[in-house]
Amino acid sequence: MSDVAARLTAALGAEVVTTDIPERNHHDWSGLPPVAPLALIRPRSTAEVSVALALCHETGTPVVPQGGLTGISGGAHPVAGAVALSLERMNRVLAVDPQMATLTVEAGCILQSAQEAAQEAGLMLAVDLGARGSCTLGGVIATNAGGNQVLRYGMARDHVLGLEAVLADGTVLTSMNTMIKNNAGLDLKQLFIGSEGLMGVVTQAVMRLQPRPTHSATAFCGCADTGAMLDLLARTRAALGPALISFEVMWPSFYDFMRAGIEATHPLSGPHGVYVIIEAGGFDVGLRERLENCLADAMESGALADAVIAASAREERALWAVREAVAEYGRILGPLTAFDVGLPLECMAGAVAQLEAGIATRWPGARALSYGHMGDSNLHLVVNVPQAGAEQPAGAIKAFVYGMIRDLGGTVSAEHGIGAIKRDYLGYSRSDAEIATMRRLKTALDPHGILNPGKGFAP
Ligand SMILES: Cc1cc2nc3c(=O)[nH]c(=O)nc-3n(C[C@H](O)[C@H](O)[C@H](O)COP(=O)(O)OP(=O)(O)OC[C@H]3O[C@@H](n4cnc5c(N)ncnc54)[C@H](O)[C@@H]3O)c2cc1C
Repeated sequence: MSDVAARLTAALGAEVVTTDIPERNHHDWSGLPPVAPLALIRPRSTAEVSVALALCHETGTPVVPQGGLTGISGGAHPVAGAVALSLERMNRVLAVDPQMATLTVEAGCILQSAQEAAQEAGLMLAVDLGARGSCTLGGVIATNAGGNQVLRYGMARDHVLGLEAVLADGTVLTSMNTMIKNNAGLDLKQLFIGSEGLMGVVTQAVMRLQPRPTHSATAFCGCADTGAMLDLLARTRAALGPALISFEVMWPSFYDFMRAGIEATHPLSGPHGVYVIIEAGGFDVGLRERLENCLADAMESGALADAVIAASAREERALWAVREAVAEYGRILGPLTAFDVGLPLECMAGAVAQLEAGIATRWPGARALSYGHMGDSNLHLVVNVPQAGAEQPAGAIKAFVYGMIRDLGGTVSAEHGIGAIKRDYLGYSRSDAEIATMRRLKTALDPHGILNPGKGFAP
């Protein structure tokens, strides 16, 4: 056992610190090769997180914070010589306050458990993503996760009212604000939201809850092409206003391949150039009718070729089945290089066509699957080069894709963060002055640079 592991064990006990590390803590969802951490710390309280960090700060030991390990950018992936600090035991819902419409959780609380606690109180935690059953609130906050309802409710940042974090030197910073308005000085929680574990370890949070919509309607649509889909987006925005909750898009490259992979039935009668899931939710009895009218108008104008509206909750879930099948990539697609880029919508049609064509030309036989949260101008692209096997030409694929995104004025990360896998491309979306300022803030909070070294904007 290393000196540090021995000192951590002496300070926190063998219940909390282990060098017999489960396989799941050797990697996250980034696909990077597994790495064994020096030790695994599983604190049960903020005080134990503080003790662990103070000791790592003193000894200059790198620390990788881990939540549910569903992050796709390698932010929670262990690095050699670092200890992993998992929040998995700090997983309680601490309180739900229906009057203030708030939910207080420990950072290791699984998103779905928090959603269910809100629902039991007649309210809704409106952060939602495919990894809901495994990702933690701490990870969601640290990545400023997006998901399926950003169009209506915003990113994770928009749901956080208060937060407790432990700084690298063990200082506990408790800002568990529960009020929507609080302009007393700087809003320090913002330093930790979206910081990918570089600025401190989130231990608790106060989340803002929403009223649960009383009516919902889900449509599955086929459009002739990307231009028509964007026309449909503008029309549904205008017709539904704040009742438009999701506008999820799948190009045939994704939809046909994944539908075959999960053997799902196609809800429309024929093939189309782009598929869209529209989800509406609100308090208006006439919501479904408004969606029907909107789709009828779109069909008349040519923006929409065909559509079906779910008649039951079961049918609603079935319409989402292919879009939610991304957790099955490992089985259906194999090794992949994944992208989560943002682009101005006016570039979307050209970009998707050029990206798919450029990949097909450079790597004949490659699969490039395109889909995304189009209401947020967020495009996901996953690429698999079958003949390359596990040794995907990731560097060359990234150089091609990110080069195009930079030239179009987009962002290399719309929602998954920079982590370990996009560090070389941060400068494509942020200026030198922006990166230097991020590093000054990092140095102020973590002077020994122990938190997630070599990730994100860390030097
Ligand atoms: C099937 C699937 C679907 C997904 N869909 C979406 C989506 O729609 N939108 C989206 O944005 N993301 C999505 N993701 C990515 C992922 O789920 C999110 O990034 C999620 O927020 C990560 O949470 P986690 O608890 O798993 O964090 P982890 O993967 O464990 O960690 C993520 C990052 O946060 C840091 N971190 C974790 N916990 C803490 C903490 N308590 N304090 C400080 N830092 C911490 C880690 O160091 C790391 O940098 C998806 C992933 C999968 C597998």
